[in-house]
Amino acid sequence: MLKKKAIISQKSNKTAERKTGKAVKKIRRAKKNIATVTGMRDILPQDQKYWEKVRQVAKQISIDYGYDRIDTPVLELTELFVRGVGAQTDIVEKEMFSFTDQGGDNLVLRPEFTAAAVRAYIQHGMLNQIQPVKFFYLGPLFRHEKPQSGRYRQFFQFGFEAIGEENPALDAQLILMGWNSLNDLGIESVIQVNSIGCMSCREEYKKVLVKYYKAKAKLLCESCKTRLTKNPLRLLDCKESGCQELKDDAPQILDYLDDNCKEHFMKVVGYLDELDLPYVLNPYIVRGLDYYNRTIFEYWAIDDVEGKNALGGGGRYDGLVTMLGGREDTPACGLAMGLDRIVAKMREKNIEVPDKRVDVFVAQLGDAAKKKAMLMYENLRPNGSFTIAQAFHKDSLKKQLELANKMKVKFTLIIGQKEVGEGTIMLRDMQGGVQEVIDFNKIEKELKKRLEKYREGAVIDLTADEEEKESSTEIPEEDVADLGDLGDDLAAV
Ligand code: AMP
Repeated sequence: MLKKKAIISQKSNKTAERKTGKAVKKIRRAKKNIATVTGMRDILPQDQKYWEKVRQVAKQISIDYGYDRIDTPVLELTELFVRGVGAQTDIVEKEMFSFTDQGGDNLVLRPEFTAAAVRAYIQHGMLNQIQPVKFFYLGPLFRHEKPQSGRYRQFFQFGFEAIGEENPALDAQLILMGWNSLNDLGIESVIQVNSIGCMSCREEYKKVLVKYYKAKAKLLCESCKTRLTKNPLRLLDCKESGCQELKDDAPQILDYLDDNCKEHFMKVVGYLDELDLPYVLNPYIVRGLDYYNRTIFEYWAIDDVEGKNALGGGGRYDGLVTMLGGREDTPACGLAMGLDRIVAKMREKNIEVPDKRVDVFVAQLGDAAKKKAMLMYENLRPNGSFTIAQAFHKDSLKKQLELANKMKVKFTLIIGQKEVGEGTIMLRDMQGGVQEVIDFNKIEKELKKRLEKYREGAVIDLTADEEEKESSTEIPEEDVADLGDLGDDLAAV
């Protein structure tokens, strides 16, 4: 009996242990560091200067060519992309982050901008404005793709859309704008141009294309076998080697364009020639979205000969406004550039982007000086001509000056107990190491004057100007002593 009891208690001990073990594991799991969602990433402070540079260039291009910024919501109704991008496309079929919200609406994180821009054009009655309506946008997009180099589930695009005009000059100008944005960033690229004609010439072409590929269906990759019935144009841009070989002998769309489409395309190409842009006619680019017609294009970095990581692309989409319920026959054209890939290319090519410039550092020693420095900082901040930094959370002057050095500021303003009493401030030229005591009320003027000389490239000899010397002399020995360890710190910098 006793033995039986002992066995039972051993068993229950083990169960208890197992339960505790599970609970510990659960807690450990709960405590595990939480990382980003697969395919999404942080853009850290040290990388921001590249992103900012791309945003700046994009904004400048939008100003240069008269495109106005539009921001559309990150969430849209699923219907918008099913109708706009096309139910049979990879984006809609496989890649949308979609969910039903509490109210029962089917929503998606936007996978692209164009359909949203057209929705906004229709929703806000922009048809009544001067045409084309020209949009510029910039922001994150979401596609549930297989993550790999240059392919993320959250990525960023900037782009331009011109809605309400069919003139081929617009196609050419958009192509130019995308190329210019890369060129302004120092990235060499080659434009790949094609025309996929209008609905009627494309239907004709699809028939001969399917006929060609059907005869070779056994040699196609699995995805292309499906494309054969669902989206035959995509057969042409498959990157599988077997399919690549087949496309060499495939019929080419340019031979099937009707007269109007041919004429439109010839005009676009004529403008590209006139603008002396580096482009190639590439009959194999088709783009993955249903709404395109006529001119389509992509930007490939000069060393990306197979176009594995296109930096951007776009084209004409004359039917999209109608497909989304807008007025019939509203032509449109646009392009989108991928920021992630552009930034990666800039880094790969060691394209320099200067660090954020800080001109002046405000350092302080002692409680009264800290208060005065904080106030002075607020007065100097909106000066409009130079940038300033501080570290008011630090008490040690040495540490503040080390920081100023690290920031490579041109000047440091130092305020201690003595300066507070006298209404002065010490101005240190960080390059020459020369210090002067100047009147507190003249700080802004003095800094502007000195920084201007720096920017002109002049070497400043602060002791050369006799008049300046009167109001601003080098800090005397006894003042250094009054500043306590300030003197030592300055000597150490
Ligand atoms: P698309 O909207 O597919 O025409 O893409 C336009 C540009 O956006 C591409 O050329 C890429 O530079 C960029 N892009 C598209 N999808 C991704 C992705 N999943 N990750 C990173 N960049 C992308």
